[in-house]
Amino acid sequence: MATAKAYAATSPTAALAPFQIERREVGPHDVQIEIAYCGICHSDLHQVRDEWGGSKYPMVPGHEIVGRVTAVGAHVDGFKVGDLAGVGCMVDSCRTCPSCQRKLEQFCEKGAAFTYNSTEMDRKTLTYGGYSSSVVVDEAFTLKVSPKLDLAAVAPLLCAGITTYSPLRHWKTKKGDKVGVVGLGGLGHMAVKIAAAMGAEVTMLSTSKSKEADARKLGAQHFGLTADDATFKRLAGQFDLIIDTISAPHDYNKYLGLLRVEGAMVLLGVPPEPTPVAAHALIGGRKTLSGSLIGGIQETQEMLDFCAEHGIVSEIELIPVQQVNEAYERMLKNDVRYRFVLDMKTL
Ligand code: NAP
Ligand code: ZN
Ligand code: ZN
Repeated sequence: MATAKAYAATSPTAALAPFQIERREVGPHDVQIEIAYCGICHSDLHQVRDEWGGSKYPMVPGHEIVGRVTAVGAHVDGFKVGDLAGVGCMVDSCRTCPSCQRKLEQFCEKGAAFTYNSTEMDRKTLTYGGYSSSVVVDEAFTLKVSPKLDLAAVAPLLCAGITTYSPLRHWKTKKGDKVGVVGLGGLGHMAVKIAAAMGAEVTMLSTSKSKEADARKLGAQHFGLTADDATFKRLAGQFDLIIDTISAPHDYNKYLGLLRVEGAMVLLGVPPEPTPVAAHALIGGRKTLSGSLIGGIQETQEMLDFCAEHGIVSEIELIPVQQVNEAYERMLKNDVRYRFVLDMKTL
């Protein structure tokens, strides 16, 4: 075991504070990474504050991890010391169930080992995330990161990037498709960039008039203010696909009215409270209401390669780890443009 510095929450109401953790010895298939940067996802906040229930403490959040390889096990052949590497939301899965065989490890039927607030596949050892100085991860769950991109701005791709890329691919987004992105935060801004790079005609649907200019810079061609009911009349029946990234409860029915016949809306945001959906919001146009959870490891690598090819990174505000609690408060006030990233040198 090796000790690592970290920031942890010890209860749903405690502020994150310095904490020491143990990382396992580097096994034959393991990669040890010195963490350079870790993004702050709204899911970190939901889980630290136990908004989804069942949170495990002490919790070291963080699943948007990038850094450099400092050691590799004897059987690792994809990474060597000094390489850039990334870790996203999962660190292991059973690898044999039908979902794992389909490379959808996020839906592992035995339950994947998530990067934090979870356990290793032994179901005993708590996993600790990227608000820490180092991590040891099986090579099969370690991603390759291009040296062409700004490393700090790559970190959010490991969750916000794959979470938006995966449904855009699944629903076969192509040139000319009309895609609506709901909520311009960490996920939303990546959805705009990636959908635009796929050739879609993107409309940003936001509660914040002040974000319109940014939305256009990120690649949206149109903007709809969702605080204004006229927007829902003006854009009714338009979209092939709607990507909903809102983190708080809101009325899905209104947004379903913006889909064309046989269009689909994909929920990515995970508000703590359920929201009713009316059957008539779906049956009239044979519409689909779907959801999507991150993406498999192979698809995450595909997304990273796509972003490197298209020069896509996140828009970030780089902060020292000591500001993490303040960053959470600012995220709740919708005061982030568009992803906080922790500089782990400051730990
Ligand atoms: P974020 O940066 O805080 O962005 C959320 C955005 O939602 C805000 O920027 C805001 O956009 C909008 N919003 C916030 N409160 C709202 C309200 N009360 N009513 C309407 N709109 C509101 O969060 P994020 O990191 O992108 O995460 C978004 C959600 O996705 C979270 O629930 C997170 O847990 C979830 N998530 C899911 C997955 C998955 O695999 N499905 C992966 C990662 C995260 P505007 O100002 O433009 O309105
Ligand atoms: Zn996340
Ligand atoms: Zn499995």
